[in-house]
Amino acid sequence: MFNALVVEKDGDGKTSASVQQIGEDRLPDGDVTVAVEYSTVNYKDGLCIGPGGGLVRNYPHVPGIDFAGTVESSDDTRYKAGDKVVLTGWRVGEAHWGGYSQKARVKADWLVPLPDGLDTRQAMAVGTAGFTAMLAVMALEDHGIKDGPVLVTGAAGGVGSVATAILGNLGHDVAAVTGRPDTADYLKSLGATQIVAREDLNETTKRPLEAETWGGCVDAVGGEMLARLLGQMKYGASVSAVGLAGGAALPATVIPFLLRGVNLLGIDSVMQPYDNRLRAWQRIAKDLPMDKLEAMIQPAVLSDLPALGKDILKGQVKGRVVVDVNG
Ligand code: NDP
Repeated sequence: MFNALVVEKDGDGKTSASVQQIGEDRLPDGDVTVAVEYSTVNYKDGLCIGPGGGLVRNYPHVPGIDFAGTVESSDDTRYKAGDKVVLTGWRVGEAHWGGYSQKARVKADWLVPLPDGLDTRQAMAVGTAGFTAMLAVMALEDHGIKDGPVLVTGAAGGVGSVATAILGNLGHDVAAVTGRPDTADYLKSLGATQIVAREDLNETTKRPLEAETWGGCVDAVGGEMLARLLGQMKYGASVSAVGLAGGAALPATVIPFLLRGVNLLGIDSVMQPYDNRLRAWQRIAKDLPMDKLEAMIQPAVLSDLPALGKDILKGQVKGRVVVDVNG
């Protein structure tokens, strides 16, 4: 028997989450059984701990869209007992039981060996949010980062914190956009060189183009903020669109694309092929300073998750929540 956070749905369609002891016979099908050590709290986890938001396929459900741990047994020759592994994406924690559990069973194809230089706790301090931040930075690099500050929106959140630390460490001038002025010192400690107030980018303008300001952007917010910042990008600069914390609608014009050659790059962490995942994790181990990663960590245990799921949906989590599933 082992502990897991189980979300159940009653006859009225109401969901509730509690830590329960469950048996290995209840784990879903898969080739590799992992003794999970750490998981994290991402925006999607907030949805899955609550009413599901269309993400959860079947109840009872164990959420947790990422985890890191040690292989316990494997039917696939790529992994053997004792190997350290990390998992993000592939709808684990949504359509398949996830990491809020002391054991998980998954397909070998979904795993990545833990890269040298990261332990399982550090890997989950990065987690899906940080992995996505790395993908976003790599996409900007592939298209060329222009001179000028690189903007990071939703900066005090998970994706934003890791993107700020990576870009700062790579020597970029990082402009961190936040709606929480009290996080300014935290963001500067991660590597931000300037703080931009959320209101400055949320105010709508009728002008489709403004002064060319930003050499690139990692955007976790979407909505009106993304529409506004498109008109402030330097000629030929790129925006990695990662999230929609500020809304899914995009009230923009085509003018920044036509007159400034701006690139809008969609970033999806869920269906990344193995080689890309491996490359991104190796870059994380190389380019993300571990002391900065430590500063982002908020520790938690399984019983904290129902409350944390609500906090992340309200945009109230700072940095990265690392869940010790054995704590
Ligand atoms: P967090 O909740 O940790 O961070 C989001 C941040 O956005 C908040 O901390 C806040 O930052 C800002 N924010 C929240 N609400 C608003 C609002 N109404 N208007 C403007 N800013 C707001 O979430 P994550 O960083 O984990 O994820 C960010 C987004 O990226 C989510 O939409 C998530 O679903 C998505 N995502 C997408 C992935 C992909 O594969 N494409 C993978 C991972 C996440 P501040 O207080 O600093 O302003």
